[in-house]
Amino acid sequence: MSRVLVAEDDPDISEPLVRALSREGYDVTLVTTGPAALTHALGGHADLLVLDLGLPGMDGLEVCRSLRGRGSTLPVLVLTARSDEADLVVGLDAGADDYVGKPFRIAELLARVRAQLRRASGPEPDVLTAGGVVVDLPSRRVTVDGVEAALTPKEYDLLLMLMRRVGTVVGRDELMREVWQTEWLGATKTLDMHVSTLRKKLGDAGSNVTTVRGVGFRMEKDG
Ligand code: CA
Repeated sequence: MSRVLVAEDDPDISEPLVRALSREGYDVTLVTTGPAALTHALGGHADLLVLDLGLPGMDGLEVCRSLRGRGSTLPVLVLTARSDEADLVVGLDAGADDYVGKPFRIAELLARVRAQLRRASGPEPDVLTAGGVVVDLPSRRVTVDGVEAALTPKEYDLLLMLMRRVGTVVGRDELMREVWQTEWLGATKTLDMHVSTLRKKLGDAGSNVTTVRGVGFRMEKDG
């Protein structure tokens, strides 16, 4: 489970943020001052720091500089209301990895969090396998027990998301967002239709794509 450290002093922002991150399955710690953010981040108890720039005690820019100055490579995602500041923190100067402008949509922030954690966990393997299904990422080819399955781009993206997190449930809203780039609107017949065709195209391995009622779908480890 990835550990996300949130440094934000405004409860109107931190409360929904912490709730959303926890719901996504992250182990979340909230701090509300710059010095606390620095101490916690340097303590090695976090995999990612979501950092507000306007923090009491020491501003976010300084927290970030100090972290880098002490050799920390912890991914830092900055929250800022000012776009001129954003260039500064993500530039060489302070060493943040990415930023999200305030006000931000939670979905957007979660996508950035995932991207940073994915990057930090090292390069993705070229090949993902589960229960006879093999996804070759560089060529976007999918085989089932050695036989190629002809997937549409959407079916491929859908399968890839499930394969990246084999054994864990991937939410319907997350799938809609990342595969169709739309917000969850409740009408997801499209998603169900694609999952259904994907299952058929995967043949026997199709039964490894499990429906988790009301939540989403899960690719089983082996079947
Ligand atoms: Ca603030």
